[in-house]
Amino acid sequence: MIKFMDLSFQHNIIMEEINNVFIDVVANNQFIGGNYINEFGNEFKNIIKADYFIPCGNGTDALEIAIESLELPRYSDILVPCNSFIASSEAVTRCGHNVVFVPIDKNTHLIDLKLIDKYINKNVKAVIAVHLYGNPINIPLLKSILKNDIKIIEDCAQAHLSHYNNNYVGNMGDIAAWSFYPGKNLGALGDAGGITTNNEKLAIKSKMIANHGRVEKYNHIFEGRNSRLDNLQAGFLSVKLKYIKEWTDTRRKNANTYNKLLKNSINVEIQSVDDEAFHVYHLYVVRVKNRDKLKEYLYEHGIETGIHYPILLPNLSAYKKLNHKPSDEIIVDDVSNNLLSLPVGEHLKESDILHVVNVINNFYAN
Ligand SMILES: *Cc1c(COP(=O)(O)O)cnc(C)c1O
Repeated sequence: MIKFMDLSFQHNIIMEEINNVFIDVVANNQFIGGNYINEFGNEFKNIIKADYFIPCGNGTDALEIAIESLELPRYSDILVPCNSFIASSEAVTRCGHNVVFVPIDKNTHLIDLKLIDKYINKNVKAVIAVHLYGNPINIPLLKSILKNDIKIIEDCAQAHLSHYNNNYVGNMGDIAAWSFYPGKNLGALGDAGGITTNNEKLAIKSKMIANHGRVEKYNHIFEGRNSRLDNLQAGFLSVKLKYIKEWTDTRRKNANTYNKLLKNSINVEIQSVDDEAFHVYHLYVVRVKNRDKLKEYLYEHGIETGIHYPILLPNLSAYKKLNHKPSDEIIVDDVSNNLLSLPVGEHLKESDILHVVNVINNFYAN
């Protein structure tokens, strides 16, 4: 059986360290607040070279808090790629702004930087730049296209340690949102999230929003909310952070094996990656012929796969209200019917990848 994800691989390696964190947190009764939170935040921001890290409850909260910290006029238009997880667009609406979907490049799966120009107007105040699947979008180029004072919120939920031209994601836009959901490349043992930025004002504002708008215990400057990273989860994350480079290398090795074996396939189209991009392969996504049959065939042969995402965001019931027409650029180019995510995680060895490719080749040979 080749699993799509297998967290026990990680936990078998770190079980003792995790137990020690648990014992320590319980012994010290430090559940809310605590030393692991600062420790993890500092280690994480140092790795990605960001000035500030603000812990919060999960990646969705991180997006909402990041957007809110920008203090944009209500009902601003915010551009969101049409293929992502719904949190990327949901956060925009939750903050009282308008979602405007923009097309993605079918080869990179990222916002199409050749088309984005025509979506820019005076109502557009920000862009959610999603580093989808772990492939970093070229933020400097996006910045130069946006010109005016349009803010960039990086959605880094799938892109831990990914970088472009040696600049880490989460450090190139105005502010960035992170998820440490268990299944992400760097995941806690429950919900967890964070925000990074190099802008002191946004850092302070975000920290206050996540903490009931206060500067000290009962001194609330404005109404915020409660969104916290548990000390326990932060401790677990600190443990995993020591292994993330190694696990990312394994993902990249697995992806390169696929790339080598599949690049000449007439049935499977691999994702294109810029030379400057350091893709961390949260997901290894290909476009394939006869997707649903192939997926079933792989499953019958003991190989789990995924689809990210089966429904394009603008086609979700949640976005009926936007009244997109089938002829709209983002809908016409719907890629969701032929996307397939192959298993690529750190739990897999080269022989597993060779096996997956063999089964794929057998499917098309029949
Ligand atoms: C997982 C994910 C989120 C949300 O993170 P949660 O921690 O689950 O709230 C946001 N954006 C993208 C692209 C994601 O993959």
